[in-house]
Amino acid sequence: MKIFRSAEFVTQDSDLQKDKGKTIGFVPTMGALHSGHIALAEKSISDGHYTFFSIFVNPKQFNDPKDLELYPRTIEKDLDMLYKCGMDAVYCPSPEDVFQSDYVDAQIQLGNLEHVLEGAMRPGHFIGVARVVKRLFEIVRPDHAYFGQKDYQQTAVIQKLIELCKFNVNMHICPIIREPNGLAMSSRNERLSPAGRKKAGFVYQALLQLKEDVKTLPLTVAIQTAKNEIMRHEGAVIEYLEVVDGIHLSPLKYIEESRKPVALVVVRYEEVRLLDNILL
Ligand code: AMP
Repeated sequence: MKIFRSAEFVTQDSDLQKDKGKTIGFVPTMGALHSGHIALAEKSISDGHYTFFSIFVNPKQFNDPKDLELYPRTIEKDLDMLYKCGMDAVYCPSPEDVFQSDYVDAQIQLGNLEHVLEGAMRPGHFIGVARVVKRLFEIVRPDHAYFGQKDYQQTAVIQKLIELCKFNVNMHICPIIREPNGLAMSSRNERLSPAGRKKAGFVYQALLQLKEDVKTLPLTVAIQTAKNEIMRHEGAVIEYLEVVDGIHLSPLKYIEESRKPVALVVVRYEEVRLLDNILL
């Protein structure tokens, strides 16, 4: 497994592999790896691509300095997991390597996607994500990129970025990998207490119930039932729980309004933001 710290060598290796006739797969992450990240890596590898995996805690997407400081960093363990899954190449750069001093950062207009839901809670977050993913695409030059459905709004942002910048990249959205109790795996779950982590499956249980309820109940009633179910758990605070169109992320009054309705939720529990979603 090759380990790169410099953008220049990543681009060189990518070009070399393409010259050999290989297609390039790419999995961008912020590290502190778990099975959700490894599932993306395995998918790219099993699709037959020469795969680059990046580990970069991107300061530009943290609007809260405390969250950036507390973000877990476990690079040795991460590299070990990647080696075991047969990764071809890992890029773990410093911020200075990604955004070199002479780099001119283009303006990216994400429109509504930037301001709703997660964007409303974390101002500037998605512009930060789009800027870094754009830069990583320029460095890695992938044919295929793999993202998790876990960060649903992020997948919509990346799709828009690909269109805006005319990147020749096929985007793959992979299913959410969950802990046995249903809690969506996340690097931030490490910050839950052992007891809290065991209980935190209630968020997914509420989403499953919502998926059933929308078949028979008015949407507003189904949403309120899910909210009540979540709020039954002591200490759980709902930041948002909305049913939206899966492409434009505009709120729905009726489930039939959209061909791809999705419920998106964030629950704050033991000071950790639990992010989850379900296709309805
Ligand atoms: P992160 O390191 O949190 O920025 O995540 C890197 C990538 O892994 C993103 O595309 C995430 O959506 C994806 N990911 C994170 N958690 C999961 C999960 N539980 N299941 C599937 N994909 C995930």
